Amino acid sequence: AEACVTAAEGADRLNVFVHKTPEIALEQARAADQRLQAGDAPDLCGIPLGIKDLFCTRGVASQAASGILKGFRPEYESTITQQLWDAGAVMLGKLNMDEFAMGSSNETSVYGNAVSPWKRAGDDTDLTPGGSSGGSASAVAADLCLAATGTDTGGSIRQPAAFTGIVGIKPTYGRCSRWGVVAFASSLDQAGPMTKTVRDAAIMLGTMSGHDPKDSTSAALPVPDFEAMLTGDIRGKKIGIPQEYRMEGMPAEIEKLWADGAAMLRDAGAEIVDISLPHTKYALPAYYVIAPAEASSNLARYDGVRYGHRAKLGQGDGITEMYEKTRAEGFGHEVQRRVMIGTYVLSAGFYDAYYNRARKVRTLIKRDFENAFAKGIDAILTPATPSAAFGLGEMADADPVAMYLNDVFTVTVNLAGLPGVAVPAGLDAQGLPLGLQLIGKPWEEGELLNVAHVIE
Ligand code: GLN
Repeated sequence: AEACVTAAEGADRLNVFVHKTPEIALEQARAADQRLQAGDAPDLCGIPLGIKDLFCTRGVASQAASGILKGFRPEYESTITQQLWDAGAVMLGKLNMDEFAMGSSNETSVYGNAVSPWKRAGDDTDLTPGGSSGGSASAVAADLCLAATGTDTGGSIRQPAAFTGIVGIKPTYGRCSRWGVVAFASSLDQAGPMTKTVRDAAIMLGTMSGHDPKDSTSAALPVPDFEAMLTGDIRGKKIGIPQEYRMEGMPAEIEKLWADGAAMLRDAGAEIVDISLPHTKYALPAYYVIAPAEASSNLARYDGVRYGHRAKLGQGDGITEMYEKTRAEGFGHEVQRRVMIGTYVLSAGFYDAYYNRARKVRTLIKRDFENAFAKGIDAILTPATPSAAFGLGEMADADPVAMYLNDVFTVTVNLAGLPGVAVPAGLDAQGLPLGLQLIGKPWEEGELLNVAHVIE
């Protein structure tokens, strides 16, 4: 833990830690030492972690990388982080992210963007670690912590994991408690581990999982020993290759990565089967209706009274001015855009045309997956992202829809509530990491990680 505290101090250039907690880290590390000496060594004993700023941590600034939560120090601990501390883990600090987890490049953060430790060969351009869990991905890739927590509403664990060459799993919706994790889109949000290896992901996911009476959507199911399921034996498993993910204009290197991944699984004894998920093309538009709709409702609580920032008011300003000025000052542009889209699609005149339509599309997407699994498919293999990491500033301020296209392979999984894992699978021509995604059946994270283990 001391080495990590020192390393974290040396890596300010990457802008990953937005609040460092060295005192807490050293105290937890001492407690972990004592447990070890006493012969009690829980799974994560003494393991130094970074925590995405979206998790509420007692007494430690928890701002969701937003100006509106400036000064907010929760009096409670999220269920997941509590589970991690109970298992002996050590908190190095809070990690950078896109504001309220809205973004794919970490550029919407009030703290400025995190930077990836990777560079293109012969090119000094700073690259994005992806988003929204960009700080988590960069910190793990740069060895500033052994692992980190992330959250994934539409790809925010898997896309940054793919961009930085690490492993990230979004569990089945309901596997991990959302209690104490700042809400973005409640029907899509799931937390998960971001780690160096599949084995680490299996161990950490075990700790983070389980029923929580404080989250009514958390599942009352037993948590299997995910690590014990990493046998490497995938003989006879059927792996689906969905034709709809072969997008027009897909770069040749992504095509090759995908084919190589399939070949690797075939060599390990799996059967590779072409499948169809016919409603895939509607997933991105449906996501960008549903996620902002839920966000506009969830973010209504930031009113200048209950949390964080309140604008300075002028003479004669009433409560309406207080709301307006506070929210105009506290929220960044992307968050404001989402709140406006969400409010619009939920408004009386447009609800049926947009929100209700998107919900129906969501059901069709879910059914596509159910049909594939009913035909005996065990897992589905796709690319994790349409490209390798892009340069900082290259996409920001351009057309926001271009940024949303990053999520084209990942949002289907959140809409269907399924587990999805991104696993490093190779490098592009410029030496940047590329990831593959595996999508599994509900509650089969262990089986899914076992397939990912064959690729890593
Ligand atoms: N990039 C997506 C968005 O901006 C996904 C975010 C996430 O998964 N938190 O909504």
